[in-house]
Amino acid sequence: MRDPQKPSYTARWCARCKAHTEYTKHSYGSGEDRTTHYKCDVCNYHVTSPLGNIAAIALLLLVTAWINGFLIRFYINEWNVGMLLDPFYKFSLVFIHVFANFLLSVYYYIIGKDHVSEYRKWKKWAKERGWEEEKT
Ligand SMILES: [Zn+2]
Repeated sequence: MRDPQKPSYTARWCARCKAHTEYTKHSYGSGEDRTTHYKCDVCNYHVTSPLGNIAAIALLLLVTAWINGFLIRFYINEWNVGMLLDPFYKFSLVFIHVFANFLLSVYYYIIGKDHVSEYRKWKKWAKERGWEEEKT
């Protein structure tokens, strides 16, 4: 068994026990609706890996960038066909864009904040144990 106090990027970590504890996989539902959770064997709190949290945050940022890129391309095309000469249409587009980004931010904040806070907790804990952020 590996040392639970030795920071690892890929191993799951329990924020309550502050250690890379042993964990058990729990599955709920069946078939397509099946969801999997990993729970700490000591305190039953859900455990995540630092790398998994980073991947989740990166995915959210990528999707945001992709959606914005797609919308901006759409505006440029509209601009070229002269649709944006209509002030109401122009205003609606800007409004929809800002509103869509606002909704996305709120949604991503809700699903992303746990990943960010869990990663931060782990990083603080890992630094106390001499873990160094990789310098690139
Ligand atoms: Zn625990």
